[in-house]
Amino acid sequence: MHELAIARNIVAICEAGRDGRPVVSVVVGVGELAAVSAHALSFSFELAAAGTALEGATLTVEPIKATARCASCGVTLTLESHLEQCTCGQSKLTWLSGGELVVRRLELG
Ligand SMILES: [Zn+2]
Repeated sequence: MHELAIARNIVAICEAGRDGRPVVSVVVGVGELAAVSAHALSFSFELAAAGTALEGATLTVEPIKATARCASCGVTLTLESHLEQCTCGQSKLTWLSGGELVVRRLELG
C-alpha cells in the first residue's frame, strides 16, 4: 500500500509549510494515471496525520487529467488509460501530465 508513504510525504510537506499553525484542510492534485487510490489515500492520510498538527484535517483529492503528446503528429491527447494510442495510430506518446501528485493548497487554523 504505497498510499501510506505518499500520505506521510503529504504530512511532511504540510508540516514544513504550516508556519507553526494548525492545518485545517489540505487539497492535493492527483494525476489520473498516478495509480493512487483516492480512498486509500484518504484512509492513509488519517493514519499519517494522527499525532501531528494535521490530526483531524480534511484531505481533498482533485483529479488531474492525464495528457500526452504524440511523437508522430504532435497532437496533444487526453488519456483515459496507459494503453491509449493517437488517432494517427502512433502509440509512442510523451506524457505531459497525469502521473503526478502535488499539494495544491493548505488551509491553516
Ligand atoms: Zn498522432
